[in-house]
Amino acid sequence: MPLIASNTVPFHVPSIGQEEIDAAVEVLRSGWLTTGPRVQRLEKELAAYLHVPHSIALNSGTAALHLALDAIGLKQGDEVILPTITFAATGEVVTYFGARPVLVDCEPEAFTIDPVAVERAITPRTRAIIPVHFAGHPCQMDDLLEIAQRHRIHVIEDAAHALPAHYKGKMIGTLGDITCFSCYATKTITTGGEGGFAVTSNSEFAETMRLKSLHGISKHAWNRYAPDGSWRYEILDSGYKYNLTDLAAAIGSVQLEKCDRLHQRRSEVAARYTRWFARQDAFALPDVKSYVTHAWHLYVILVNPDVLRISRDKLLVEMSQRGIGTSVHFIPLHLHPYYHDTWGYSTGMFPIAEDYFERCLSLPIYPGMLDEDVDRITDTLGEIAREFRR
Ligand SMILES: *Cc1c(COP(=O)(O)O)cnc(C)c1O
Repeated sequence: MPLIASNTVPFHVPSIGQEEIDAAVEVLRSGWLTTGPRVQRLEKELAAYLHVPHSIALNSGTAALHLALDAIGLKQGDEVILPTITFAATGEVVTYFGARPVLVDCEPEAFTIDPVAVERAITPRTRAIIPVHFAGHPCQMDDLLEIAQRHRIHVIEDAAHALPAHYKGKMIGTLGDITCFSCYATKTITTGGEGGFAVTSNSEFAETMRLKSLHGISKHAWNRYAPDGSWRYEILDSGYKYNLTDLAAAIGSVQLEKCDRLHQRRSEVAARYTRWFARQDAFALPDVKSYVTHAWHLYVILVNPDVLRISRDKLLVEMSQRGIGTSVHFIPLHLHPYYHDTWGYSTGMFPIAEDYFERCLSLPIYPGMLDEDVDRITDTLGEIAREFRR
């Protein structure tokens, strides 16, 4: 039975219905559990949904990022530019190659990677930029693609938050060399807890990623146990164990089918929040550019220190004590011990990201939320704002 007390609003609840449960049970009864026909079907559906020729289903978004960097031939000593405001995975995958994660600041409006900072960070060793469509708001892709083209480097998008999102009418997934999505439990659609995929219009990149996703074994290796499959296979390269299971893919197909409806409801929740925030001065909101559609994976607010004498940390505790789950996305990478000790980053290097981090709070946003939940959250924020007004 529900793990969550009814008088609280949790930070996240996955939108899993009977259809997902039925799809999973069907696979469990089918006799074929891991990579097989349902993965193939999901890959076709993802490619069609995103209007891209190639999609490779994988067991995580991190695997997608790793294989993308592998496909562009990243080598030891190379550099990859990424925003400091992101999750561990975006930078970690660069280090798998003995390459250097080069962190840059974000722009002060939507808090996505700052193209001016990217340009400044380019050196002869730069091989790629990884823009992160943070919270579901697309990065300034025109600028980033232009910079990449001019310097002959690749754009690998971290779209873990951005299914579905558009930039100037184009769907995220159709812009960079390779775009990587996550289907982790909290993301906009899930394959049942863990999963991800990469999309590209470059058939060579697609072929390399597919090969390396399953031990570097020749095409259709998963089929070798099927009645009509051949037992013979060849190891063509050194690869990884990154394949998605049919069990996960079946859940993913149902979720993808609902993707637009789930997005619609998250957009309604966001709009209801935004109407309330427009009428007060205690909290600020990141910009939503007129030329994007936002995936609304996260709804982030910023404490206004000129109006309130409460820290973000205290606000999070106050919300929790009033039964509302919130979170923080993200602690900038450069403030973590690993990035300090290994890569020489330290506090003070990225002032916009640091100011953002001091003040940001992520509110609950998921399709299962009721209007009453949103109102309860904004009422509570109003209450706290009155109590802690300067
Ligand atoms: C979730 C996330 C990832 C990694 O996805 P997994 O599927 O958990 O491996 C990568 N980047 C960002 C920004 C994320 O939020």
